[in-house]
Amino acid sequence: MRCLVCVLVGSLGVVLAAAQEPVDTPALARIRAEAQERSSALRLFHTLTDELGARLSGSPAYNTAARWARERFTEWGLVNAHLEPFEFGRGWTLEKIAVDMTAPRYMPITAYPDAWTPSTNGVIAGRVVYVGDKTASEIQAMVGQLRGAIVLAHLPVAVFVDADRPQPGLDERPVRTGNPALPQPRSVTPLNELLPLLQRAGAAVALKASAYRDGTVGVTGNRNTPPDALPTITIAGEQYNVLARLAAAGRAPELRVELRTRNAEDDRNSYNVIADIPGQDPALRDQVVLVGAHLDSWHTAGGATDNADGVASVMEAMRILAALKVRPRRTIRVALWGGEEQGLLGARAYVARHFADQAARDRLAVYLNDDPGSGRTLGFYMEGNQAAKTIFDAWLAPLRDLGATRNIIEPINATDHVPFDEAGLPGFNAIKDFEAYDQRTRHTNADFGERTSEEELKQSAIVMATFAWQAAMRNEKIPRKR
Ligand SMILES: [Zn+2]
Repeated sequence: MRCLVCVLVGSLGVVLAAAQEPVDTPALARIRAEAQERSSALRLFHTLTDELGARLSGSPAYNTAARWARERFTEWGLVNAHLEPFEFGRGWTLEKIAVDMTAPRYMPITAYPDAWTPSTNGVIAGRVVYVGDKTASEIQAMVGQLRGAIVLAHLPVAVFVDADRPQPGLDERPVRTGNPALPQPRSVTPLNELLPLLQRAGAAVALKASAYRDGTVGVTGNRNTPPDALPTITIAGEQYNVLARLAAAGRAPELRVELRTRNAEDDRNSYNVIADIPGQDPALRDQVVLVGAHLDSWHTAGGATDNADGVASVMEAMRILAALKVRPRRTIRVALWGGEEQGLLGARAYVARHFADQAARDRLAVYLNDDPGSGRTLGFYMEGNQAAKTIFDAWLAPLRDLGATRNIIEPINATDHVPFDEAGLPGFNAIKDFEAYDQRTRHTNADFGERTSEEELKQSAIVMATFAWQAAMRNEKIPRKR
């Protein structure tokens, strides 16, 4: 049982914090009305997931999405909407993949190439060669069988991805945050040793297993893959197991594999999309409240939960503020990042370029990011910044009825607020819902729009617009940790 005095002191604390931290009630009501009555959130989301589709950094599809976002910002009346380049590397596009089992019977295979993998040399057909259970020296002894072969590189999948990370923010339970360690397919010879061996032996293509369940294929890729590497394809775990079991039993199935990919070498940059609602207070308008989300995704689905929902929410928050013709004291800036999936590259480039010296760092009021998870925003991860949490708690209070109820002091890693935090700048990420995120949609061929509702997108946009507005209007910037 909780002690009554503690509960009373606890609630008194919230009231005091709220009393000290002004909340702009009329502006919040206007934000909500615009968000509920004239929402563009679902349209933006479906343009991203259905029309633009997968947005792999460096690809022509990503650049199309970036130009589309810039055009929306200009259309809504934001100022200086532009693409900001940063060094990225070779672009890559998937043009065709078809993998079928042709014997002992016909079965289509759910298969996706690793990003940046080269094409196969036309259509490859033949019996698979299974090496998942072989040592390096055993593989070297098989060299005669490997030339031109379709190779099964992993052991059968024994441990599947079965759970989402714990959900922070919903109640008072202790929280654990960050990307969970997911089970990975294994092979007796690790892939970093195995794939070069196979390539030297002249194999045609390597098939890897996905550890996700029920036909879901988790697949990423490495932008530094040499253009003449061995092509690698990841297939559904259960189907991989069928092929590997047959092969291990001496009845190797026959497959037909065709993979066509295209490199884009002409532009080695990727781009962040930046636009402003200019500040109006002569003393504060040089200061920036930055809101953002990563626009890039992996290449197999629509990048819906990772991260079209974050992008749609942040874009809609800016649309709402622009539509209300608000006059913020500080400049409110939006940043849609590229290269997040390759190591937060766009956000890192932005921090390095714009916050190199102390005077520049002093002009950032706060950065608010919307990424891991999907659905509603429940609050913010406060990165250990208690002074900022007191302020954010007051801002969250009027959003309780929308399900945004709890900021947590703990940090979350692995997304675009991290370079800000590392530079000593106040950067925070929204706490989102993790239902089905880790075990189904994140970095998989199942990252489509059905997991996210219009209400959740509207809610996230309201929270982001509210926080951006409060941060743009308060007398002081958000306090730093150090
Ligand atoms: Zn991701």
